[in-house]
Amino acid sequence: MRGAGGTTDAPRHAVVIGGGVAGLLTARVIAERGARVTIVERDRLPAEPAQRPGVPQGRHTHVLLEGGQRALERLLPGAVGELLDRGAPRLGMPEDMLQWQAGGWYRRTAATAHVLTPSRPILESVVRERVLAGGRVVTLEGNEVVGLVGDADRVTGVVVRERGAGAATDRREIPADLVVDASGRGTRADHWLTELGAEPAPEERLETGLAYTTRLYRADPEPEDGPGAARYRGQYVVPDPGQVYGAVVLPLEDGCHLVTLSGLRGCEPPTDDEGFTAFTERLPHPLVREWLNRAEPLSGAHGFRDTANIRRRYDRPGRRPAGFVATGDALCAFNPIYGQGMTVAALNALALRGELARRGGVPAPRRLHRALLRSSRQAWAISAGADKNMPGATGNAAGTRAVERPVALYLARVQRRAGGDPVVGAAFRSVLALMAPSRALFTPRVLRAVLLGPDPAVPDRPPLRREADEAPEPASGRG
Ligand SMILES: Cc1cc2nc3c(=O)[nH]c(=O)nc-3n(C[C@H](O)[C@H](O)[C@H](O)COP(=O)(O)OP(=O)(O)OC[C@H]3O[C@@H](n4cnc5c(N)ncnc54)[C@H](O)[C@@H]3O)c2cc1C
Repeated sequence: MRGAGGTTDAPRHAVVIGGGVAGLLTARVIAERGARVTIVERDRLPAEPAQRPGVPQGRHTHVLLEGGQRALERLLPGAVGELLDRGAPRLGMPEDMLQWQAGGWYRRTAATAHVLTPSRPILESVVRERVLAGGRVVTLEGNEVVGLVGDADRVTGVVVRERGAGAATDRREIPADLVVDASGRGTRADHWLTELGAEPAPEERLETGLAYTTRLYRADPEPEDGPGAARYRGQYVVPDPGQVYGAVVLPLEDGCHLVTLSGLRGCEPPTDDEGFTAFTERLPHPLVREWLNRAEPLSGAHGFRDTANIRRRYDRPGRRPAGFVATGDALCAFNPIYGQGMTVAALNALALRGELARRGGVPAPRRLHRALLRSSRQAWAISAGADKNMPGATGNAAGTRAVERPVALYLARVQRRAGGDPVVGAAFRSVLALMAPSRALFTPRVLRAVLLGPDPAVPDRPPLRREADEAPEPASGRG
């Protein structure tokens, strides 16, 4: 039934398409409203943390930003503690990380933000166990959604087919008064909506052609007190318009490390084992290569190329049915180099929770999508904002409008100062970690440091130790 402003009754049964991080967290908030939720997932979900074919990106580095940790805690209290108990490393930024960005090394001052670096399978499994506990959310595994039921005004269910079964007779319908598309960046929603006679969402796209290649390693760290002891826990080489190669070396829950190399279109890292190591010669410093020489590879190299920023504008006018909502990567997918996708999936779920509570039912489709897109707006500004400046960026969201130029120039100054000025660095990190709104970069203190401050000194070689460890011993007694 429709109420004021097109709000419909709270759902009694919802179907969520896809059991990834976004699907699970969305199922959780819908179940909180008293609904039964069925997650339809094309994979069979593993009992223990394991890679699965439906999430090929799971073999690659997946950091959970501090904004995502906070959002996850609000959705599933205790989940972050459980990840830490199960060994997920928590790295302080910038003190634990050797970071090269915007042409220089970051000082390793005290941490003002933290990233969690568990493997994607363990993170998903902690989330899944918590969401499925209690029985309101159930899974239909090994089944894939192949269409929607209903018409251009109202979706009333989904059509599923058992994986591997081809004949039309194997299809069946599952009724639902709310259908959530959480099927990831490869969603077929455009096609499904067109089949109902509805309009697909206009798409914004920005592509740098960035490719990832990742291998798993067991590190052979230098002894803590050995000559040149490397007391850092991770390495991060961030690409920029003048230096198009990236690298991330991060620990996992089991003591192993994932090493991800990246390059823009035309500079992609190879996916053979020798090529992987040789590619590190292109990085602005030999440190990653030296690290690889001391480490033992535990896997072959896995590539990933589908990294475009894609935003589906369901908030724009068009004939689209009630009872259907998109979330996670199916709504807004990012260049993964910024580590935002899982955080945004959690922020989308919080936005949905807020809308369902405020309206006492399901808001009209445009209103609902407006709320979800609002929760991903900052991440989009970061990711698309940076990628616009990359050489060879393509897509209808490429190009900087004249009104955006002053802000772009200011942000370029922020980046140049973030590595050496702790005030600017802290503000920059808080925004990138989706812990603070973008306006944190425009407080009087930060504006002063960015616009009037002298160029801060940055380390001229990799700072292998934290600054706290470099500090002279405090004077004792009166001398
Ligand atoms: C290389 C790479 C690295 C990344 N690194 C990070 C990172 O460091 N930090 C971060 O926060 N994010 C990262 N991301 C993004 C992150 O993986 C996603 O944003 C996040 O997992 C949320 O995705 P999702 O749940 O929307 O979709 P997915 O994780 O893709 O899950 C979609 C699910 O839907 C299922 N499915 C698909 N179609 C159907 C269908 N028709 N019927 C039934 N089931 C279906 C799939 O099997 C899958 O389980 C990275 C992404 C990539 C590609």
